[in-house]
Amino acid sequence: MRNAPSPSAPTDPAAALLEVKARIAAAATEAGRDPLAVTLIAVTKTYGAAHILPTISAGHRDFGENRVQEAEGKWPELKASHPDLALHLIGPLQTNKARDAVALFDAIHTLDRPKLAHVLADEFQRAGRALRLFVQVNTGEEPQKAGVPPREAAAFVAQCRTEFGLTVAGLMCIPPVDEEPALHFALLAKLARENGLQQLSMGMSGDYEQAVRFGATHVRVGSAIFGARS
Ligand SMILES: *Cc1c(COP(=O)(O)O)cnc(C)c1O
Repeated sequence: MRNAPSPSAPTDPAAALLEVKARIAAAATEAGRDPLAVTLIAVTKTYGAAHILPTISAGHRDFGENRVQEAEGKWPELKASHPDLALHLIGPLQTNKARDAVALFDAIHTLDRPKLAHVLADEFQRAGRALRLFVQVNTGEEPQKAGVPPREAAAFVAQCRTEFGLTVAGLMCIPPVDEEPALHFALLAKLARENGLQQLSMGMSGDYEQAVRFGATHVRVGSAIFGARS
Protein backbone atom coordinates (compact mmCIF):
# COMPACT_ATOMS: atom_id res chain seq x y z
CA MET A 1 0.00 0.00 0.00
CA ARG A 2 1.22 3.47 -0.81
CA ASN A 3 0.83 6.36 1.67
CA ALA A 4 -1.68 9.15 1.30
CA PRO A 5 0.09 12.45 0.58
CA SER A 6 0.97 14.44 3.66
CA PRO A 7 -1.53 17.33 3.89
CA SER A 8 0.82 19.75 5.66
CA ALA A 9 3.60 19.32 3.09
CA PRO A 10 3.23 22.21 0.63
CA THR A 11 3.02 25.04 3.16
CA ASP A 12 5.57 24.25 5.83
CA PRO A 13 8.55 22.04 4.92
CA ALA A 14 9.93 21.95 8.47
CA ALA A 15 6.61 20.75 9.89
CA ALA A 16 6.16 18.21 7.09
CA LEU A 17 9.69 16.96 7.71
CA LEU A 18 8.83 16.32 11.36
CA GLU A 19 5.74 14.39 10.36
CA VAL A 20 7.70 12.23 7.89
CA LYS A 21 10.33 11.56 10.56
CA ALA A 22 7.64 10.54 13.04
CA ARG A 23 6.14 8.16 10.49
CA ILE A 24 9.55 6.67 9.74
CA ALA A 25 10.19 6.16 13.46
CA ALA A 26 6.79 4.52 13.93
CA ALA A 27 7.31 2.19 10.96
CA ALA A 28 10.80 1.25 12.17
CA THR A 29 9.64 0.56 15.73
CA GLU A 30 6.70 -1.47 14.45
CA ALA A 31 9.17 -3.58 12.43
CA GLY A 32 11.46 -4.07 15.42
CA ARG A 33 14.12 -1.78 13.94
CA ASP A 34 16.04 1.12 15.43
CA PRO A 35 14.56 4.37 14.00
CA LEU A 36 18.08 5.83 14.02
CA ALA A 37 19.10 3.21 11.45
CA VAL A 38 17.00 5.01 8.83
CA THR A 39 18.38 8.16 7.16
CA LEU A 40 15.76 10.48 5.69
CA ILE A 41 17.07 12.07 2.50
CA ALA A 42 15.03 15.21 1.81
CA VAL A 43 14.82 15.42 -1.99
CA THR A 44 15.06 19.07 -3.04
CA LYS A 45 14.98 18.88 -6.85
CA THR A 46 13.10 21.88 -8.35
CA TYR A 47 13.13 23.62 -4.93
CA GLY A 48 15.40 26.51 -3.99
CA ALA A 49 17.04 27.79 -0.84
CA ALA A 50 13.83 29.42 0.44
CA HIS A 51 12.27 25.97 0.80
CA ILE A 52 15.45 24.23 1.90
CA LEU A 53 16.70 26.62 4.60
CA PRO A 54 13.83 26.06 7.08
CA THR A 55 14.64 22.34 7.11
CA ILE A 56 18.36 23.03 7.65
CA SER A 57 17.43 25.38 10.51
CA ALA A 58 15.28 22.58 11.93
CA GLY A 59 18.44 20.45 12.07
CA HIS A 60 18.03 18.37 8.93
CA ARG A 61 21.31 17.41 7.25
CA ASP A 62 20.74 14.82 4.46
CA PHE A 63 19.51 16.08 1.11
CA GLY A 64 19.06 14.58 -2.36
CA GLU A 65 19.23 15.99 -5.88
CA ASN A 66 18.78 14.11 -9.14
CA ARG A 67 20.84 16.37 -11.43
CA VAL A 68 24.44 17.51 -10.98
CA GLN A 69 23.93 20.80 -12.78
CA GLU A 70 20.86 21.78 -10.78
CA ALA A 71 22.65 20.87 -7.55
CA GLU A 72 25.61 23.04 -8.51
CA GLY A 73 23.27 26.02 -8.67
CA LYS A 74 22.22 25.89 -5.02
CA TRP A 75 24.31 23.54 -2.88
CA PRO A 76 27.89 24.94 -2.88
CA GLU A 77 26.66 27.99 -0.96
CA LEU A 78 24.46 26.00 1.42
CA LYS A 79 27.26 23.51 2.09
CA ALA A 80 29.76 26.31 2.70
CA SER A 81 27.62 27.64 5.55
CA HIS A 82 26.73 24.14 6.84
CA PRO A 83 29.78 21.90 6.34
CA ASP A 84 28.07 18.95 8.04
CA LEU A 85 25.44 18.63 5.27
CA ALA A 86 25.41 15.38 3.28
CA LEU A 87 24.33 15.63 -0.34
CA HIS A 88 23.11 12.52 -2.15
CA LEU A 89 23.00 12.15 -5.94
CA ILE A 90 19.88 10.10 -6.69
CA GLY A 91 19.60 10.62 -10.45
CA PRO A 92 21.57 9.19 -13.38
CA LEU A 93 25.23 10.26 -13.64
CA GLN A 94 26.97 10.79 -16.99
CA THR A 95 30.68 10.02 -16.91
CA ASN A 96 31.53 13.55 -18.14
CA LYS A 97 29.86 14.92 -14.98
CA ALA A 98 31.65 12.52 -12.62
CA ARG A 99 34.35 15.00 -11.57
CA ASP A 100 31.78 17.68 -10.72
CA ALA A 101 29.68 15.13 -8.85
CA VAL A 102 32.63 13.92 -6.78
CA ALA A 103 33.46 17.52 -5.87
CA LEU A 104 29.95 18.36 -4.64
CA PHE A 105 28.19 15.18 -3.48
CA ASP A 106 28.81 12.87 -0.52
CA ALA A 107 26.98 9.81 -1.84
CA ILE A 108 25.97 8.44 -5.24
CA HIS A 109 22.92 6.18 -5.38
CA THR A 110 23.00 5.47 -9.11
CA LEU A 111 26.13 3.46 -9.88
CA ASP A 112 24.95 1.12 -12.63
CA ARG A 113 27.67 0.37 -15.19
CA PRO A 114 31.36 -0.53 -15.43
CA LYS A 115 32.36 2.62 -17.31
CA LEU A 116 30.95 4.80 -14.53
CA ALA A 117 32.59 2.63 -11.86
CA HIS A 118 35.92 3.02 -13.64
CA VAL A 119 35.60 6.81 -13.93
CA LEU A 120 34.47 7.17 -10.29
CA ALA A 121 37.40 5.08 -9.06
CA ASP A 122 39.77 7.41 -10.93
CA GLU A 123 38.03 10.53 -9.61
CA PHE A 124 38.08 9.27 -6.00
CA GLN A 125 41.82 8.73 -6.33
CA ARG A 126 42.34 12.11 -7.88
CA ALA A 127 40.20 13.95 -5.31
CA GLY A 128 41.57 11.97 -2.38
CA ARG A 129 38.05 11.17 -1.20
CA ALA A 130 35.62 8.35 -1.76
CA LEU A 131 31.87 8.87 -1.85
CA ARG A 132 29.40 6.40 -0.40
CA LEU A 133 28.17 4.26 -3.30
CA PHE A 134 24.90 2.49 -3.95
CA VAL A 135 24.44 0.24 -6.96
CA GLN A 136 21.10 0.95 -8.63
CA VAL A 137 19.13 -2.19 -9.47
CA ASN A 138 16.36 -2.04 -12.08
CA THR A 139 14.14 -4.38 -10.06
CA GLY A 140 11.22 -3.98 -12.47
CA GLU A 141 13.49 -4.59 -15.50
CA GLU A 142 11.92 -1.54 -17.15
CA PRO A 143 13.66 -0.70 -20.44
CA GLN A 144 13.46 3.08 -19.87
CA LYS A 145 14.89 2.90 -16.36
CA ALA A 146 18.54 2.93 -15.27
CA GLY A 147 20.06 0.24 -13.08
CA VAL A 148 21.52 -3.22 -13.47
CA PRO A 149 19.06 -6.09 -13.96
CA PRO A 150 18.61 -8.13 -10.74
CA ARG A 151 20.35 -11.19 -12.22
CA GLU A 152 23.46 -9.10 -12.99
CA ALA A 153 23.65 -7.32 -9.63
CA ALA A 154 25.99 -9.82 -7.96
CA ALA A 155 28.49 -9.81 -10.84
CA PHE A 156 28.47 -6.02 -11.07
CA VAL A 157 29.00 -5.55 -7.30
CA ALA A 158 31.87 -8.03 -7.46
CA GLN A 159 33.37 -6.21 -10.46
CA CYS A 160 33.16 -2.86 -8.61
CA ARG A 161 35.08 -4.40 -5.72
CA THR A 162 37.72 -6.44 -7.50
CA GLU A 163 38.31 -4.66 -10.79
CA PHE A 164 37.81 -1.05 -9.66
CA GLY A 165 38.66 -1.30 -5.94
CA LEU A 166 35.43 0.45 -4.96
CA THR A 167 33.58 0.00 -1.69
CA VAL A 168 29.90 -0.54 -2.39
CA ALA A 169 27.76 0.45 0.60
CA GLY A 170 24.44 -0.84 -0.63
CA LEU A 171 21.75 -1.11 -3.27
CA MET A 172 19.11 1.32 -4.55
CA CYS A 173 15.88 0.85 -6.48
CA ILE A 174 12.95 2.82 -7.89
CA PRO A 175 9.97 0.44 -8.20
CA PRO A 176 7.71 0.69 -11.26
CA VAL A 177 4.90 3.18 -10.58
CA ASP A 178 2.14 0.70 -11.34
CA GLU A 179 3.38 -2.22 -9.25
CA GLU A 180 3.22 -3.14 -5.59
CA PRO A 181 6.46 -1.64 -4.21
CA ALA A 182 6.77 -4.30 -1.49
CA LEU A 183 7.83 -6.93 -4.04
CA HIS A 184 10.65 -4.67 -5.22
CA PHE A 185 11.75 -3.75 -1.71
CA ALA A 186 11.85 -7.43 -0.75
CA LEU A 187 13.88 -8.28 -3.86
CA LEU A 188 16.38 -5.48 -3.21
CA ALA A 189 16.77 -6.56 0.43
CA LYS A 190 17.38 -10.14 -0.69
CA LEU A 191 20.02 -9.07 -3.24
CA ALA A 192 21.75 -6.97 -0.56
CA ARG A 193 21.84 -9.91 1.86
CA GLU A 194 23.23 -12.23 -0.82
CA ASN A 195 26.01 -9.76 -1.59
CA GLY A 196 26.95 -8.84 1.97
CA LEU A 197 25.66 -5.27 1.63
CA GLN A 198 24.27 -3.42 4.66
CA GLN A 199 22.50 -0.43 3.15
CA LEU A 200 19.28 -0.09 1.19
CA SER A 201 18.20 3.13 -0.56
CA MET A 202 14.51 2.63 -1.24
CA GLY A 203 11.18 4.32 -0.55
CA MET A 204 9.81 7.67 -1.76
CA SER A 205 6.89 9.89 -0.66
CA GLY A 206 4.31 7.29 -1.58
CA ASP A 207 5.89 4.24 0.00
CA TYR A 208 8.66 5.12 2.45
CA GLU A 209 6.96 3.53 5.48
CA GLN A 210 6.69 0.27 3.63
CA ALA A 211 10.33 0.55 2.55
CA VAL A 212 11.32 0.98 6.21
CA ARG A 213 9.43 -2.21 7.09
CA PHE A 214 11.49 -3.99 4.43
CA GLY A 215 14.78 -2.71 5.81
CA ALA A 216 15.45 0.62 4.07
CA THR A 217 18.42 2.45 5.61
CA HIS A 218 17.92 5.47 3.32
CA VAL A 219 14.53 6.76 2.19
CA ARG A 220 14.34 9.48 -0.47
CA VAL A 221 11.37 11.76 0.19
CA GLY A 222 10.60 14.92 -1.79
CA SER A 223 6.98 15.91 -2.36
CA ALA A 224 5.75 14.81 1.09
CA ILE A 225 8.12 17.42 2.55
CA PHE A 226 8.28 20.22 0.01
CA GLY A 227 4.97 19.80 -1.82
CA ALA A 228 4.10 18.60 -5.33
CA ARG A 229 6.60 19.61 -7.99
CA SER A 230 5.22 21.57 -10.93
C1 LIG B 1 12.35 12.71 -7.11
C2 LIG B 1 12.90 11.45 -6.58
C3 LIG B 1 12.53 10.98 -5.30
C4 LIG B 1 11.52 11.67 -4.43
O1 LIG B 1 10.25 11.52 -4.97
P1 LIG B 1 8.95 11.96 -4.17
O2 LIG B 1 7.87 11.10 -4.72
O3 LIG B 1 8.75 13.40 -4.43
O4 LIG B 1 9.20 11.69 -2.73
C5 LIG B 1 13.12 9.80 -4.85
N1 LIG B 1 14.01 9.12 -5.60
C6 LIG B 1 14.39 9.54 -6.82
C7 LIG B 1 15.38 8.74 -7.58
C8 LIG B 1 13.85 10.71 -7.35
O5 LIG B 1 14.23 11.12 -8.56
